[in-house]
Amino acid sequence: MTPEERTAELAANLADVRSRIAAACAAAGRDPAEITLIAVTKTFPADDVRLLAGLGVTDVAENRDQEARPKAEATADLPLTRHFVGQLQTNKARSVAEYADVVQSVDRVRLVGALSAAALRHGRTLRCLVQVALDDGAGRGGAAPADVPAVADAVAAADALELAGVMAVAPLGGDARAAFARLTGLAAEVREDHPGAAIVSAGMSGDLEDAVACGATHLRIGTALLGGRRAIVR
Ligand SMILES: *Cc1c(COP(=O)(O)O)cnc(C)c1O
Repeated sequence: MTPEERTAELAANLADVRSRIAAACAAAGRDPAEITLIAVTKTFPADDVRLLAGLGVTDVAENRDQEARPKAEATADLPLTRHFVGQLQTNKARSVAEYADVVQSVDRVRLVGALSAAALRHGRTLRCLVQVALDDGAGRGGAAPADVPAVADAVAAADALELAGVMAVAPLGGDARAAFARLTGLAAEVREDHPGAAIVSAGMSGDLEDAVACGATHLRIGTALLGGRRAIVR
């Protein structure tokens, strides 16, 4: 595919996604300007990140440090907000803290210390979301709902971190709307103690309408924008 053909394909996908968001907002009585669209570019090349930025995308996300770091370096000239959305090992915190603007997958107090120390070392402030497990521990990452306040307090107290909100992935094969409603409830509880934690990151290609209906502020969209991901060999 030529770059021109890929650009046309991405532009068409982006228009589709934006019209889905507009329709979901209309149904929910919300303003599309309240919603930030994040392109999840994992498994796709840095060239796609560049094309998306050229089409007006402002936010991109990756889920593996090994892939995210070189792509961030290859697109460092672009004015993008970079999100990290994957399960994060403590020993990768130092690397991620150098290029990510928002870490959406903070799910334990131990990681908070590592991220803050790493951000300090790089002279940066990281915005963090507490990832909530809505699948009762089925392994997609996240803090148990009961542990969310403690993780949120730890982020808020950390020198180089800013508590920006919460994130979740809907349970596989479950009721996305019920899961996102639970997330919105937890987000409201977190805001009672931390009024600045305004982000609710929920919704992917298959369930963005449910997320918008439940009050999501950020949508993480991969497949619907970039196409199907090929399996990657690790
Ligand atoms: C891959 C991924 C997405 C995007 O999923 P799609 O179904 O391709 O839109 C969103 N959030 C996280 C955490 C992901 O890993």
